[in-house]
Amino acid sequence: MDQSSIVSDALKRDLLDAREQRHWEVEQFVQAGHASVIQLATNLPGPDKAPPGCSALLEWARYQLEESLQAQTVVHSRDRAGYYCLLISAQDPLRCKQVGIDLEHAQPFARLLDVDVYGPYSGQLSRQSLGYPARPCLICGASAVECIRSDRHDQDAVIRAAHAHLRNFTRRSTDAGLYIGGTS
Ligand SMILES: [Zn+2]
Repeated sequence: MDQSSIVSDALKRDLLDAREQRHWEVEQFVQAGHASVIQLATNLPGPDKAPPGCSALLEWARYQLEESLQAQTVVHSRDRAGYYCLLISAQDPLRCKQVGIDLEHAQPFARLLDVDVYGPYSGQLSRQSLGYPARPCLICGASAVECIRSDRHDQDAVIRAAHAHLRNFTRRSTDAGLYIGGTS
């Protein structure tokens, strides 16, 4: 049997488990009555979901969300899908989503981050609900979902592009002293 397909089936199962667990955690905070629950996560293609620099990238974004939305981090964790944290904010979910989208667009390396926002009445807000196109592909900038669906790029090329973004982040944050937070 093909070894790589066994590995990838196991990974898919692990990712699904991680997703369910995160969803459950989000639900706890939504049901507790917070205006907005924000899930900030690294989103790396390929089997290695936490290459060097990922944790610092998450911290870079987390700090900005806390500042812009007076948000509070309530979960800070890592699972098979990568690093993630949950934040709560008293601000409107639409505003939180807008700040999240702005953050995702702020730098090319920020495409490696997902900012998902959940409200008690709205459920999960989509980029489209604010008039934005779907998430851009790491390589060509077209819709990432479309590129994956049509197998447009070689998987290794997507992984290389992601790692290049990560190196770029690490270099820039080191140069500018942008790195914030004590964990690595
Ligand atoms: Zn593409």
